[in-house]
Amino acid sequence: MKGELKIYNSLTRQKEVFVPQNPPHVGMYVCGPTVYSDAHLGNCRTFMFFDVVYRYLKHLGYKVRYVRNITDVGHLEDELAGEGEDKIAKKARLEQLEPMEIVQNYTNGFRHVMRQMNTIPPSIEPTATGHILEQIELVQKIIDAGYGYESNGSIYFDVLKYAEKYPYGELSGKVLEDLQNNSRELSGQGEKRNPVDFSIWKKASPEHIMRWNSPWGEGFPGWHLECTVMSTKYLGETFDIHGGGMDLQFPHHECEIAQSVAGIGCVPVKYWIHTNMLTVEGKKMSKSLGNSFLPHELFAGSHPSLEQGYSPMTVRFFFLQAHYRSTVDFSNEALKAAEKGYKRLMNAQSLLSKLNYTNVGTVDVELDNQINEACENCYKHIDDDFNTAMTLADLFELSNKINAFSNKQLPLASISEATFNRLQTTFHAFVTDVLGLKDEASDNSNDGLMDGVMDLLLNIRKEARANKDWATSDKIRDELKEIGLLVKDSKEGSSWSVL
Ligand code: AMP
Ligand code: ZN
Repeated sequence: MKGELKIYNSLTRQKEVFVPQNPPHVGMYVCGPTVYSDAHLGNCRTFMFFDVVYRYLKHLGYKVRYVRNITDVGHLEDELAGEGEDKIAKKARLEQLEPMEIVQNYTNGFRHVMRQMNTIPPSIEPTATGHILEQIELVQKIIDAGYGYESNGSIYFDVLKYAEKYPYGELSGKVLEDLQNNSRELSGQGEKRNPVDFSIWKKASPEHIMRWNSPWGEGFPGWHLECTVMSTKYLGETFDIHGGGMDLQFPHHECEIAQSVAGIGCVPVKYWIHTNMLTVEGKKMSKSLGNSFLPHELFAGSHPSLEQGYSPMTVRFFFLQAHYRSTVDFSNEALKAAEKGYKRLMNAQSLLSKLNYTNVGTVDVELDNQINEACENCYKHIDDDFNTAMTLADLFELSNKINAFSNKQLPLASISEATFNRLQTTFHAFVTDVLGLKDEASDNSNDGLMDGVMDLLLNIRKEARANKDWATSDKIRDELKEIGLLVKDSKEGSSWSVL
């Protein structure tokens, strides 16, 4: 039974009943990747979770417009201080490529990984560089409203002036005086009236490659600005849901609120949702800490600290086992357990599809109730702020019953036909539609021809490896990957799966 969805709103710090502004429409914006390097597994956790939100809202019958941007300009190395090189420009300089080549390359890679993880592409995937004019317009509006000032060709947001009239720090729980005290020592505040001010337009230094004309000279937009512009352009001045990782609450999302209030005249978002971090030995997985795992390293088992490879659906299952507001620590043991859990669920799904309800016997009321209750609990738990961990527990309870029906421990006729139908519908809806788990084993099933061809290729590759002919071995692996087939190497030999 579909119930009442409650969402923990980071802004109010409480669970609230979800009421869209304009039902059946729902607008959801999620901060997308900065495409200067490969997305790591931490990033995947956040995007996979919002995929579940998207899927569940659609399952409830809402017409969802899901906007997830691509950050392809303006994200500086040190956003807190508003300092450093643009991440994409820096990569372009280091690799001697056009910035847009960097952007295209990592955008392709990101989309590929999102497909592997079985996430549904967003309705709109706008880029920051595609919305420069709108960003310049918003900067102008903020200046006109009296909250932006020019300094040496850059435009800064006047946080102190804003805070005289509006709350600043409400979302992140930051106190302005503390921020002021903490930021005094930071360098590069010379241009700003106050160290807490943030740039909404940056003057491009002569060597800066990514630059656009503006009323204030050549420059580029501040990072926070793009999300304000693209979310409100496609979802309206105030929209339903804004998501991202917790690390974006401050300064990014706090600044988004300030920009909207100052420049557009309204509070942008009704429900803020923030995911917690994927950690490694308790530390946030991040590119800068050097503790990140890339999805392909995990799928192929090629990372030195992995004992084996784990399939994309195992990883998806692993993330679903935790509540999105808890941290998840990455470990071989946890992944192995997830692999088992995922296979158990897929096995139950396959058994369920083979069960045939034919004859009605005497209904075992207690068993019948247990199944109905577990089906109801799937909704109850996902409705409780997307508690996917509890929803999985409900599905396992149903799996136990399915196994018992399948091996005739329990007669199928001891539940009513209506209950059986409900079991089938609910199980399928949750596993496939809502949680987005697909059966990788059946994905690989084919008429045997494919297996034969792959065996042949893997044998040729094995021979090449034995002859230390790494070029041929890598060519086979890489070209198979390009056409969507993943070769996994382990101590036991090589295997393959569909990406
Ligand atoms: P970025 O490409 O760094 O802008 O990050 C893209 C998204 O991934 C943002 O929503 C981040 O908050 C999120 N993110 C970054 N690191 C992690 C992590 N270790 N665990 C979960 N989410 C993360
Ligand atoms: Zn953003």
